[in-house]
Amino acid sequence: MSQLSFFQFPYLSDNYGVLIHDAESGDTACVDAGDADAALTALAEHGWTLTHLFITHHHADHTGGLEALKAATGCHVIGPAPESVPIAGLDQRVNDGDELQFAGHTVQVMHTPGHTLDMINYYLPEQGVLFAGDTLFTLGCGKLFEGTADVMWNSLNTLMALPPETVVYCSHEYTLENGAFAIQVDPNNQNLIDRLRNAEALREKNQPTVPSTIAEELLTNPFFRAADPAIRQHLNMITASDLDVFTELRKRRG
Ligand SMILES: [Zn+2]
Repeated sequence: MSQLSFFQFPYLSDNYGVLIHDAESGDTACVDAGDADAALTALAEHGWTLTHLFITHHHADHTGGLEALKAATGCHVIGPAPESVPIAGLDQRVNDGDELQFAGHTVQVMHTPGHTLDMINYYLPEQGVLFAGDTLFTLGCGKLFEGTADVMWNSLNTLMALPPETVVYCSHEYTLENGAFAIQVDPNNQNLIDRLRNAEALREKNQPTVPSTIAEELLTNPFFRAADPAIRQHLNMITASDLDVFTELRKRRG
């Protein structure tokens, strides 16, 4: 099977988009479409032509360039079947458990509501790559705009169960902001201390801290660590349920 290449590019103030390219067929997908010009520039840099768009959720920083990209390239646009605010321009709506083919590669659709009700993530099991949208962030998770804490907790548990080596592309550069909160609730976590030091060095050089892996998040992301005794101790919630600990963490993060 031919190899896929992944190319991440920044847009707007702190968003990331990703191009997925199959060298054999020439097919190229873009995950989300917040800024058509940024995506077209990234495509032109590689000499790639957009054939597919994978939309994670309806927010404007993920869909604002959808119609312009579609008009410019004629790409096939895939997006969430679960609706909150309707997305104009979708050619295909997909839901939890659906399996797509992109240039002969499997793409599994996961519904991970919480940030929004329509949030879907795209998982490429053969490559071990997850596009987490605004559900899971480096050292954080999405704000609860439409879902409740229990809905988001359930979604995060689905992602936690992916193979630890899974590479996670999230949609924003939030590591330092999230890390400032994480270190407050998990101050003695050496993995977190090391990761933050590394992230600060990357950001000083204007390098991305995305992607990460499920394994890294399990070791350092407080929203994956509701069961951790040190975090529970810090919150004075030793005997609380994981959901209650997660809910408290999400509330404190603001
Ligand atoms: Zn969003």
